[in-house]
Amino acid sequence: MLSVYIKTYGCQMNERDSEAVAAQLVARGYALAPTEQVADVVLINTCSVRDMAEQKAIGKMQTVIGQARKKRPDQIYGFMGCMAQSRGQSLIDQLPDVDLVLGTQKFHRAAEYLDDIFAGRRDKIVDTDVEEDSEAKIREHILPGGGEKAVTAFVSIMQGCNQHCTFCIVPFTRGEERSRSIPDIVAECRDLASRGVREVTLLGQIVTSFGKRDIPLKDGRSAFVQLIEAVHEIEGIERIRFTSPHPKGYGDDLVEAYARLPKLVESAHLPVQSGSDRLLKAMHRGYTRERFVNLVGKLRAVKPGMGITTDIIVGFPGETEEDFADTLSLCSEVEFDMAFGFKYSPRRDTPAAAMPGQLSEELIEERHQRLLTVINDLAARKYERYVGRQVQILVEGVSRRNAARFEGRTSCNKIVVFPGSERHRGQLLDLRIERVGHYTLYGDPAIHLD
Ligand code: SAM
Repeated sequence: MLSVYIKTYGCQMNERDSEAVAAQLVARGYALAPTEQVADVVLINTCSVRDMAEQKAIGKMQTVIGQARKKRPDQIYGFMGCMAQSRGQSLIDQLPDVDLVLGTQKFHRAAEYLDDIFAGRRDKIVDTDVEEDSEAKIREHILPGGGEKAVTAFVSIMQGCNQHCTFCIVPFTRGEERSRSIPDIVAECRDLASRGVREVTLLGQIVTSFGKRDIPLKDGRSAFVQLIEAVHEIEGIERIRFTSPHPKGYGDDLVEAYARLPKLVESAHLPVQSGSDRLLKAMHRGYTRERFVNLVGKLRAVKPGMGITTDIIVGFPGETEEDFADTLSLCSEVEFDMAFGFKYSPRRDTPAAAMPGQLSEELIEERHQRLLTVINDLAARKYERYVGRQVQILVEGVSRRNAARFEGRTSCNKIVVFPGSERHRGQLLDLRIERVGHYTLYGDPAIHLD
């Protein structure tokens, strides 16, 4: 029996794509190898959002090949995903041991191409072409524990991005926006629910653009809200999350959905990127700071406990100390529950890479550190307020922080660790928060408040 090891870099969409490839290969009789050393096939699913992510994936492949080539001359190596899409054949030119380069619309062809390579029908395969309907091909799941034990699952609802933010490579690596049909997504979620899944996270580069071109508004509600409503109907699904939305995609219909649909979690990841209107314009984001703050206000008016997280880019070309101060002040004004701070990385073919005013690495690093301090301080204060409060979590399983404990997440996406057992898995459980750690709450199910 052949075995495969898949290493994934990047976002949840990449995780989901890797899971679908693993499911496809398992269905073809492959085993999932625990390490790259013992695998017959090593696939690296790559991210292109920042240069560092690309370098990591290339470095990893070099190490794997360097360590294994002499001992395992038959081992097969493949790159998949965003960097495979954008670099194509040049990856084989750089690393001649690589056998397969699979673009972002070709994940479903992994098994077929590996068959060709093993059978000697083809030597090297590079496929980064556009493929119609590829958005509907990421649908098979590998649920841990034979299917019974997975409580949460990612569901890919669309591919591609049409936003063309000036810093971002994604439209080049993921192509034009294409959405699956609502019945197809609902069927997948139903199947997951029947296998024990209680929470689904709907995934796309810009989920709020779901179905924009193909599915008409219904009673003023967007295709994305119609999708949430349809998933909401599924028995067994207790919670619905989604990521990533675009702030400008948050119409009143979506804000109102939080009030109307109890399974829609009290959590929103709203990538703001900057607090400076000047930079938001240069980034081509399509909203102002004021509009963003208003949106947060609307969401909190509907759900006061709403957890709001964000992405911020530090060191966009031309960023002045004043622009950066605007970003810091926005963080304090909004009080994000958590924020990912990204150091700006020039990406090939993006307009920002050619803009004047590129900042030095030292300056970007210094601002990044200052941003992290502000974000972490704000979050720590926010988490501290949970002590003594009762929260409800969906128990996901053994804690990743402490294998002797269990963990789950609140509706507003806070991880809570508690002394639990297998019987708690998949339950909605009330806990009292006793203490806080770094982006973690610690609770006790034995203590009940009135
Ligand atoms: N849906 C998101 C949005 O509204 O922009 C896009 C998701 S993107 C793949 C994840 C994050 O990577 C972005 O929100 C942005 O903060 C960061 N990012 C994208 N391009 C970047 C670049 N060139 N340098 C640094 N960070 C970048």
